[in-house]
Amino acid sequence: MECLLDRFLRYVRIDTQSDEKSSSLPSTAKQLVLSQRLYEECQMLGLVDVSMDSHGIVMATVPATVKHSAPMIVWNSHVDTSPEYSGTGVNPIVHDDYRGGDLVLPGDPSKILRVQENPHLNELFGRTIVTTDGTTLLGADDKAGIAIIMTAADRLMRDRSIPCGPIRVCFTVDEEVGRGIEGVDFQKLGGVCGYTLDSGGVGRIDTETFSADLAIVTVKGRNTHPSVGKGVMVNAVRILSDFISRLPRQNLSPETTDAREGFMHPYQIQGGVAEATCRIILRDFETEHLARQKELLERIAEGLRAVYSECQIVIETRKQYRNMRDGLHIEPRAIPKAIEAVRAAGIEPIMDIIRGGTDGAQMTERGLPTPNLSSGQYNPHSPLEWTCVEEMETAAKILVELAIAWGKEVA
Ligand SMILES: [Zn+2]
Repeated sequence: MECLLDRFLRYVRIDTQSDEKSSSLPSTAKQLVLSQRLYEECQMLGLVDVSMDSHGIVMATVPATVKHSAPMIVWNSHVDTSPEYSGTGVNPIVHDDYRGGDLVLPGDPSKILRVQENPHLNELFGRTIVTTDGTTLLGADDKAGIAIIMTAADRLMRDRSIPCGPIRVCFTVDEEVGRGIEGVDFQKLGGVCGYTLDSGGVGRIDTETFSADLAIVTVKGRNTHPSVGKGVMVNAVRILSDFISRLPRQNLSPETTDAREGFMHPYQIQGGVAEATCRIILRDFETEHLARQKELLERIAEGLRAVYSECQIVIETRKQYRNMRDGLHIEPRAIPKAIEAVRAAGIEPIMDIIRGGTDGAQMTERGLPTPNLSSGQYNPHSPLEWTCVEEMETAAKILVELAIAWGKEVA
């Protein structure tokens, strides 16, 4: 049986970066390379109902071993890596028997994994750490999840004496660009609930995500040659800057909030004198608070219209995803079974919330309650990304226990 680490190293070497500017599905054809590999590996391991569609979504089933009809659950992770940092030519560095201290990344010695910034390293003495060489991201987000799922599936297929219910494995594309479930056929997928393997650390069970919307503020001005601008020019750059400066800073910003506090985050501006736009993400754990954030944007626009009477300010908002808490109750066993499995693997579960979204949030909204479990990933989307092999092993153990826990249930 191939070990989890070897699997992981194979997967991260495949470049699967997604692209938010692309409208095709998958957003980048290179994701299909890993999808195809996973499709073949699922067949090789003996999973049944193995399929891969044109979008690169792979599904397969680990058949039950229990005699009664047990409910089917879904294990999910995503093949793509973040567009925020290069995923080309990933050269993973395995640090066996970690002796403590900072880790200098050999491909770019200015990149140092510091204990001060990663205090959890203090608990990993003697473990195996995998980092990048400093020039790319690692892609443990979410190839750690894939390696964990494939290892657990392999174990269940090899040892048919383990009493488990049926498991539906699902690998999705384009999670990092918010389109992870776009092509998913939920009918074909099935399952009473799902689990994404996309959280950090070990033993975490995430049961809430943000609720999220995007606001696009567009200011339309009037451009003239600056030499004859007097009384005529309406500078969209200036008005948009004014708009952004009126956004809350001491509260409701990523720089000043944590835990359950929401924020409004302007993350991109674009344009010139005639027209300028700003993209602002709106986040809160309470969906109804997003409406308040939109009202605040409208009030800022109103204030500016009073000052710059000749400009046009348009605010467009788009729904992104909703707090998974709002839909998890549909399958009341989803969280208790995860708790049971983590404990059976010998650790105390950490119940947590995510200041972000997961594919699971959207799956939950579509009627498949899907909390998020740890996959041992740290510092995602960064050249300082790393993972701990033993924590990934624990996650695979938890999945096997989860299959056993659900095998006791009756469908
Ligand atoms: Zn992820």
